[in-house]
Amino acid sequence: MRIPADLNQVPDVQGHFGPYGGVFVPETLMPAISELRDEYDRARRDPNFKLELDQLLRSFCGRPTPLYFAERLTERLKGPRIYLKREDLLHTGAHKINNAMGQILLARRMGKTRVIAETGAGQHGVATASVAARFGFECVIYMGKVDMERQSLNVTRMEFLGAKVVAVTAGQATLKEAINEAMRDWVTNVRSTHYLLGTSYGPHPYPMLVRDLHRVIGEEARGQILEQEERLPDLLVACVGGGSNAIGLFYPFLDDAGVRMVGVEAGGRGIRPGDHAARFQTGKLGVLQGTKTWLLADDDGQIQLTHSVSAGLDYAAVGPEHSYLRDIGRVQYDYATDDAVLEAFLELSRTEGILPALESTHAVAYLIKHAREMNRDQVVIINLSGRGDKDVHQIAQYLAARNSEGRAATKVPPGESSSLPHAASTPAP
Ligand SMILES: *Cc1c(COP(=O)(O)O)cnc(C)c1O
Repeated sequence: MRIPADLNQVPDVQGHFGPYGGVFVPETLMPAISELRDEYDRARRDPNFKLELDQLLRSFCGRPTPLYFAERLTERLKGPRIYLKREDLLHTGAHKINNAMGQILLARRMGKTRVIAETGAGQHGVATASVAARFGFECVIYMGKVDMERQSLNVTRMEFLGAKVVAVTAGQATLKEAINEAMRDWVTNVRSTHYLLGTSYGPHPYPMLVRDLHRVIGEEARGQILEQEERLPDLLVACVGGGSNAIGLFYPFLDDAGVRMVGVEAGGRGIRPGDHAARFQTGKLGVLQGTKTWLLADDDGQIQLTHSVSAGLDYAAVGPEHSYLRDIGRVQYDYATDDAVLEAFLELSRTEGILPALESTHAVAYLIKHAREMNRDQVVIINLSGRGDKDVHQIAQYLAARNSEGRAATKVPPGESSSLPHAASTPAP
């Protein structure tokens, strides 16, 4: 494997990861971007910043998270020894709070009094609303109307935490439109407001900043696996929306040539235009929402519609560092379809007693599919980026719909209307 010597030297000072990244924003946002970049530059060299952040990550967020050996799943799949990095056990239920906590401390250093954020699945909105409450900030969350419907539990949580949730109805009414609205707000209120961006995406310094705030995931996992297995893992697997949980796990292992890494994108209903969000399957180079990266666009350069059962992976572009890591061959990218994800959700729930977020389940589905290609003495770490409570209604509906379709197809008259049909249970691995 070719690992360039400067792998830990990206991005450069302009925020470039090879040909990707950079700063593509309107002139009016440049002062805010520069302010953030300079403040982060100071903060990362300030021991007090790290000390306070570490303390809050422990006492407020619940770090370190366990590295859990999934013994029963390992037995069933008859492949490698499977470990789950339990980011689902963090406060508010996903990895997002690592980043939100770091950025609210930066916002306070910059003298801001208000934070805004976009959210897809709602987990970043909840994490932002929580840290905003904790530090006494005004908080506005932009969320696509479609996402508000499919993640209504998280909307209620944000409101109880004192945040204002603004429904975005433009376009596809999902994450991309929510980011547009947040950027618009930021331009207008740049003096008082910090834009607490939720993934390793957007204009520099965000992709680097968000990565740095999540690398604690991989740093912990590295120490934990060395302690539990007395060796490094053979494979890391993580789902990729913007790419923050994946880069958080991968980054501290990038120099370990023996550690293979796979990022799993949303295959949706299959790899056809409008039916998926697997940018590396059919995407191309382009610029979207502040950065140059791999994205889904048609021949005229228009951004394509996307689909995924998981709101958190339903986005047309991927973080620039992932585009770079793919180019240099350090990380491979694959995808999991909605159907495979639903099977994997039931499999993990029933085998290990853990309800995973639909996003995280993409990584589990990948391993279920590929476990037999590995040896039983090999070791895999899956990043379990979040818990599935937010998804249970949607999953129940999906399974009910699929079950009634199945009945219609086989001409079995509809019987008892169980919303969690056992017929849709565990796949043969
Ligand atoms: C938001 C989210 C994701 C996707 O975002 P990344 O930045 O790619 O990590 C994945 N899992 C969960 C649980 C999320 O909430």
